[in-house]
Amino acid sequence: MTDAVCTSCPYCGVGCGVLATTTGEVRGDPDHPANFGRLCSKGAALGETIGLEERLLHPEVGSRRASWDAALDLVAARFDEAIRTHGPDSVAFYVSGQLLTEDYYVANKLMKGFIGSANIDTNSRLCMASSVAGHKRAFGADTVPGTYEDIELADLVVLAGSNLAWCHPVLFQRLDEARKARPEMKLVVIDPRRSASAEGADLHLAIRPDGDAALWNALLAEIARRGALDEGYLRRHVQGFDDALAAARASDPAASGLSAEEIAAFCNMWIGTRRVVTLYSQGVNQSAHGTDKVNAIINCHLATGRIGRPGMGPFSVTGQHNAMGGREVGGLANMLACHLDIENGAHRDAVRNFWQSPTICTRPGLKAVDLFRACTEGKIRALWVICTNPAVSLPRADAVARAIAAVPFTVVSDITRTDTTALADVLLPALAWGEKSGTVTNSERRISRMRAFLPAPGEARADWRILSDVAARMGWGKAFSYDGPADIFREHAALSGLAGALGRDFDISALARISDGEYEAMKPFCWPRPASGQSPLTAGRFFAEGGFYHPDGQARMLAITPPAPRPAAPGRFHLNTGRIRDQWHTMTRTGRSPRLGQHLAEPFVEMHPQDATALSLEPGDVVRLSAGESTAALRVLITDRVRPGEIFAPMHWSGRTATAGRINPLVPGPTDPVSGQPALKHGTARLERLEAAWFGFAAAATPLAPPPEATYAYGAVIRTPTGWSLECAGREIPQDWIATARALLGMSGNASGEASADMPAGTASIAEDPARGLVRVAFHDDAERLQGLFFAAPHPVRLARGFAAGQIGRRIAAAQILAGRAPADLPDPGRTVCACFNVGLNTICAAIRAGATDAAALGRATAAGTNCGACKPELETLIANARLRAAAE
Ligand code: SF4
Repeated sequence: MTDAVCTSCPYCGVGCGVLATTTGEVRGDPDHPANFGRLCSKGAALGETIGLEERLLHPEVGSRRASWDAALDLVAARFDEAIRTHGPDSVAFYVSGQLLTEDYYVANKLMKGFIGSANIDTNSRLCMASSVAGHKRAFGADTVPGTYEDIELADLVVLAGSNLAWCHPVLFQRLDEARKARPEMKLVVIDPRRSASAEGADLHLAIRPDGDAALWNALLAEIARRGALDEGYLRRHVQGFDDALAAARASDPAASGLSAEEIAAFCNMWIGTRRVVTLYSQGVNQSAHGTDKVNAIINCHLATGRIGRPGMGPFSVTGQHNAMGGREVGGLANMLACHLDIENGAHRDAVRNFWQSPTICTRPGLKAVDLFRACTEGKIRALWVICTNPAVSLPRADAVARAIAAVPFTVVSDITRTDTTALADVLLPALAWGEKSGTVTNSERRISRMRAFLPAPGEARADWRILSDVAARMGWGKAFSYDGPADIFREHAALSGLAGALGRDFDISALARISDGEYEAMKPFCWPRPASGQSPLTAGRFFAEGGFYHPDGQARMLAITPPAPRPAAPGRFHLNTGRIRDQWHTMTRTGRSPRLGQHLAEPFVEMHPQDATALSLEPGDVVRLSAGESTAALRVLITDRVRPGEIFAPMHWSGRTATAGRINPLVPGPTDPVSGQPALKHGTARLERLEAAWFGFAAAATPLAPPPEATYAYGAVIRTPTGWSLECAGREIPQDWIATARALLGMSGNASGEASADMPAGTASIAEDPARGLVRVAFHDDAERLQGLFFAAPHPVRLARGFAAGQIGRRIAAAQILAGRAPADLPDPGRTVCACFNVGLNTICAAIRAGATDAAALGRATAAGTNCGACKPELETLIANARLRAAAE
């Protein structure tokens, strides 16, 4: 990779360094301190996502192509008009942790300093706003005390509400390697669900949903009872201990949902181990009590002085690659730039003077959930959604889609069409990963360069430039006359120097005068980096010797009262939502990668076998979930990973990939009163078998779309190595199966191969078994290559899918493909387990039968698990199951 460019992965908050070439070759950057050359399956598949299919390449006004001038003039005029007529708070921006820091900075400056409202919020509100609020309450600033190295130096790592193995796989790999090097190192996982991260843990605590604070309070009370407090640290650096302890003693440990033995085992491990890192994520944050949970965790670390020292500390890991950058520039509606506070007059004056702006917001703006509620209420007259898909990702997403549709003027900037772009009056094409340039900050405060290595496609432009062009049209051209991201970075760094002078933690003013060349060559570094050279860090970490950011320099312990347990009403299940290993957000990027689609190819819901039996559900059935006014149709996955009465569904599927696969419309999403973060993991839903007249599977070389809900009860499409595949369930038996197959496959023509003018021809072969209700159709082109196939049955189709879809584009006889089974000379690899090397379940099981007794041996035999390692927990489970079966025989 001689011409490779050093850049960063655009997905999760680990912030891995990537080497990438224009031909789409991608490798982990061996010199990047976040990953040292590692990549997970998503990062390794980045090269498969850079094609231009489905990209937005031109501005559109009212669904028609428009010039940039016409589109930008209209945006500026409509925002201007709304502000003049209804005031600055009548407009809003909803932005994203996918933005680069420079883009984020410009958006925040425009809204808070020039429009004069704080109505800019980010989808990071859904991810880690509770951590921000918890940090600010405890530390006086949104400071992450430690670094990734602490995870390797710890003797005990507690994963609280974090499926690190799937959601931050490279960090999990670092943890896994550290445990292998030091087998005495322990891992505890706190999660209602037995996630992949819990598979190899020393202790899995399957707490009741929202039972976290009760557990951490029990630990705090036990720390005090055993005399394990760090009295000196508490005396010198902490306030609020007595009240926090009194609240902890008053709370009922049983509210955690754990037995006394489980709580005692956890307390023994935690108290008995000095080097402890508690790493937490969405399971803690996405709750109506998220901020309290964060502070309950931090309380225990402050009480024992286990913070800011090697191998110790609370550690919030962020979902998106630049959630931290958004926090730094004030991308949240309740923060000013550079960790300054909107409510602080001195902070506001400093920022306004620095920006030389005509105004400055004087109060926090609308947080995400409130912002879309304000849209429903007609309070927002002009809305700009940048690089995010709220019509899928927000709680009550159906209501959010209606809210966006109700706004008189909506602009959406994005790289591709989404459920949200369908609601826009103006569409603006933005640059994507590989095309844009700037900086990002990962979960350990490390700022890295994102570098372009591809030309801008069509008329797509950088977000900072689009925002600056609108600002100029609104009369503020001088303040937004940037000549590139380096220019914006220097301004941001200079402003951070003012913040540092005002006693804030975020200060990178040492970089305020770097040249364009130095910016281009910038190596990853952790902030702060003040111009004075006076760092508040001890060995790269905050707070080992106090130095908190409350006015008195002391930290605060908070008195936490855990919520009372709230069992789901009879007939309803507790609905937990989350993420899967190989997809990212609403699949707008990872959905383009064939290999990432093969691990879990359909929207699904996990359910305990006991509940499945009670509802007479079989593996592979499709179920209908309902809550409030919304429903979803998902494949049921019966597993004891979830507990009875609880179900889990991933949030990735949208209207573009599934007929009714969006889960967040079912989540009511009450918000945390401090952080405003919605409780995305805490819905309830009814669940029943989905009755369908027939079930189908189809595959083709050309793009497939989810079928319409009017005639299909279920549908899901995914990329495959040979094209696309589709799962569906029809409401009525069709009159003409071939016509149905052609419609699903986007083909036209008749059984003898006559095609319409705009569709590819295909000669249909059909096999029917009326007694069993089976129908199989194959389409071949003139060269006898398989163009498409369609299988239907009265029950979910039983078929070697990997084999069948893998024949698309090949010469295979109709009789052979219609048999639906892989012939002996074409073995079916089965469902993909290892996405990095595309190793299927059948291949892995064969290797286990042939004598592979551990993950390393499986790796040698099949290559599975030898790259990112995210499939290792699944490999180990397969090996363990094989052992159990062998023992039982
Ligand atoms: Fe990207 Fe994976 Fe690294 Fe996250 S862990 S930054 S998704 S390569």
